[in-house]
This record gives sequence, structure tokens and C-alpha cells, in this order.
Amino acid sequence: MNETFEQRLERVEQRIAKACQNAGRSREEVRLLAVSKTKPPEAVREAAGCGLRLFGENRVQEAQSKIPLCPPGLEWHLIGHLQTNKAKIAARFFQMVHSVDSLKLLEALDSHAGTTLPVLLQVNVSGEAAKFGMKPDEVAGVIETANRLQKCEVHGLMTIPPFSPDPEKTRVHFRALRELRDRLQQETATPLPELSMGMSHDLEVAIEEGSTWVRIGTDLFGSRN
Ligand SMILES: *Cc1c(COP(=O)(O)O)cnc(C)c1O
Repeated sequence: MNETFEQRLERVEQRIAKACQNAGRSREEVRLLAVSKTKPPEAVREAAGCGLRLFGENRVQEAQSKIPLCPPGLEWHLIGHLQTNKAKIAARFFQMVHSVDSLKLLEALDSHAGTTLPVLLQVNVSGEAAKFGMKPDEVAGVIETANRLQKCEVHGLMTIPPFSPDPEKTRVHFRALRELRDRLQQETATPLPELSMGMSHDLEVAIEEGSTWVRIGTDLFGSRN
């Protein structure tokens, strides 16, 4: 009943490996981002002890108090909505931001980043009303502005599809993000190698559709309250 972190990691790794194999992709093309939000520093330490180095948090305030208590040498990625007025703290604590959802935020991060900051643009490909993310037709303009910035570098796109208990129903959104990326690479002549998509229950479908970052919380750390 009480699985260890190592056992849960082993199962997630097996699922990723199998999905890569089914998709004819190499395991090295997909990074596992361990989403430690709501979990204490001890959980991060245990994960780091199992060899994980890439961690995702969705709130700046939580990250700000947690990261200093975690082992050094880890890489922290922001995956949640960021208010422009917190861009300065975010730039200090995170090595990559997956959730840039406006030009204003991108410019704020650029002005506060100390060095090169890789970012992904969060796109609302499903058109669902309540979600954060840019509209697909806004993204080209943001990339063109980003190409003139000093520190933020757009490396690709991210999406959070509407939840469906059936991961197959999510495939259309993952595919839409990949196709948008392919189009934008052409249109803007900007390399966009990264696609951040796929969570605990739909990582297989995301990998089949080209994900390079799966963001896994529940299936690594257990459920959140
Ligand atoms: C919480 C969160 C995840 C992880 O979700 P799980 O279903 O627990 O794996 C991934 N991405 C984002 C943006 C999140 O907020």
C-alpha cells in the first residue's frame, strides 16, 4: 500500500520508456519534470536522492520559501500562472518558466532576469474559457518581440488541456500544440524544440504527440490535499 518514492519513480520511468518506444522516439528526447508543489522539502530531498534534478513549482511564494531548504544543484521550473509584479522574484528562483502567458509578463521577466532565461509560451489551444494561456493567433507576435529581447529566449510551447478522465480525449489538444509549433517555426524562423505537455494521467498520449517535457506530480509524490 505505502509505495516508496523510488517505486513510484520506477513506474513513471517505465511508462515514459514504453511511450517513447511506441512512438519511435528516444528516451533522451523527453525530460521528466518532478512537480513538487504542495510537498515539503523532505519530499524533494528524497526525489533528489533517487537522481531527479528537474523540479516544477506553480507558485512563486511557495517556491521562495521551499527552494532554500532543498538540496543545492537542482533546477527549478515555474509551471503556474505568474503575475507581472512577481516577475522579479520568479527570475531569481527559477531557471526556466513554462507558463509565460502574455507579452507583458515576458517583458517583465526579461527586465529582471540576471542571465539568459529560457521560457515556454503557454497556449490555450482548446479555447476553453477559464484557462490561462495565449490564443494561438497571438503567439507569432510574442515570439517576434521575444527575438528582440536581451535575456528571455523562447524555446517552445506549453499547454494545460481541459481535464478529461480519458487521456485519448486530450490527444487532439496535444496534437494542436505540436502543429502550432511546427507552423510557428516556419513563420517566425525561430527554433522551438520544446513542447511541455503531459501530466500524471496522460503522459503517454503527450509523448506520442511529441512532448519533450512531461510534468508529473501525483504519480511521483502521491496525491495532494
Ligand atoms: C500540478 C501540475 C502538474 C502535475 O499534475 P499531476 O496530475 O499531479 O501530475 C503539471 N502541470 C501543471 C501546470 C500543474 O499545475
